[in-house]
Amino acid sequence: MREIKNKRAIVTGGTRGIGRAIVKELAARSCCGVLFSDVAFVYNSCDECAEEIMSEIPDPTKIFAFKADASSFEEAQATVNAAIEKLGGVDILVNNAGITRDNLLLRMTEKEFDDVINANLKSVFNYTKAVLRPMINQRYGRIINIASVVGLIGNPGQANYVASKAGVIGFTKSVAREVASRGITVNAIAPGFIETDMTKKLNEEQRKKLLQNVPMQRMGVPEDVAKVVAFLCSGDADYITGQVIAVDGGLTM
Ligand code: NAP
Repeated sequence: MREIKNKRAIVTGGTRGIGRAIVKELAARSCCGVLFSDVAFVYNSCDECAEEIMSEIPDPTKIFAFKADASSFEEAQATVNAAIEKLGGVDILVNNAGITRDNLLLRMTEKEFDDVINANLKSVFNYTKAVLRPMINQRYGRIINIASVVGLIGNPGQANYVASKAGVIGFTKSVAREVASRGITVNAIAPGFIETDMTKKLNEEQRKKLLQNVPMQRMGVPEDVAKVVAFLCSGDADYITGQVIAVDGGLTM
């Protein structure tokens, strides 16, 4: 992988699961002096998780934590401004924050629908809009949106979540077309079933059933996704934009 030196990254939802692995992947490479210099991550509620991750990073002077609700437009703008001040700019945005509020549509409340759309889709609009001008001005940017395989194939009991992730995929392709000529790439990753707090809710029977559809017959780990993020930020991915890369053990092949 051709490495890029001295890049500055913002990661939303960086305290747990996939986001945490992304932060560690980017920061670890910065520690070895090869890939990214600084990482700012955003989280919503878990202060202990933020402290824990800061303590796990080899060079904590290169990592900054911001507590903000990614679904708030104003908070996103303020957070990006503050992160840019700390980092000295922004080259990479990873839109990873996300939640589930599963229910069959007949039972789904308006709040369950709105909360998921706001946390998963509006947050992507908020953060992408906030970083776009600085990225356009410097004629360089890498934006990576964490979608989901269910945004491609649907899933019963998740109409709100699937709508948000299909929205993220459409958003990715539209913005990729808008900014391709400015040196900015915009791609999505569609994880399959990854071992995190989000999937801990599944019982043994649900797991068994899901794995029947996964040719590799195992769930993924957060690092499987983080490594693809690092690839999309590297020089090796300079000619890739508007794509959705499934990291799913073959589920959607
Ligand atoms: P997770 O373990 O539940 O972690 C979610 C992270 O997002 C936490 O750091 C959380 O911070 C943060 N977050 C949630 N809402 C936020 C908000 N409004 N503002 C700021 N931060 C917020 O989830 P995960 O499984 O790692 O999922 C990460 C992403 O991958 C999500 O977009 C998810 O939809 C997607 N994904 C996951 C899977 C899977 O199998 N796990 C599959 C496909 C796609 P706090 O702890 O502070 O709330």
